Amino acid sequence: MKPAGVVRKVDQLGRIVLPKSLRKRYQMNEGDPVEILVQGDHIILERYRPRCVFCGTLDGVREFKERYLCGGCMTEMAGLRRG
Ligand SMILES: [Zn+2]
Repeated sequence: MKPAGVVRKVDQLGRIVLPKSLRKRYQMNEGDPVEILVQGDHIILERYRPRCVFCGTLDGVREFKERYLCGGCMTEMAGLRRG
């Protein structure tokens, strides 16, 4: 992780403005969902991507009945059904 060279103050409602240059660089547009992650003392903003509800992976995730599952967990569930 490296500093972006930008310091912003948090407003009364806890908001900060992401500089236009960063929004442009990371293709973040108005209304785009952003996920807030924490790692130790760090707060990380990431473009939101759905994770598998069971294992948390981001890879190969597909929507199924308004939930997101990865291929591995889907295969595992199909195996349980077959007994
Ligand atoms: Zn999974």
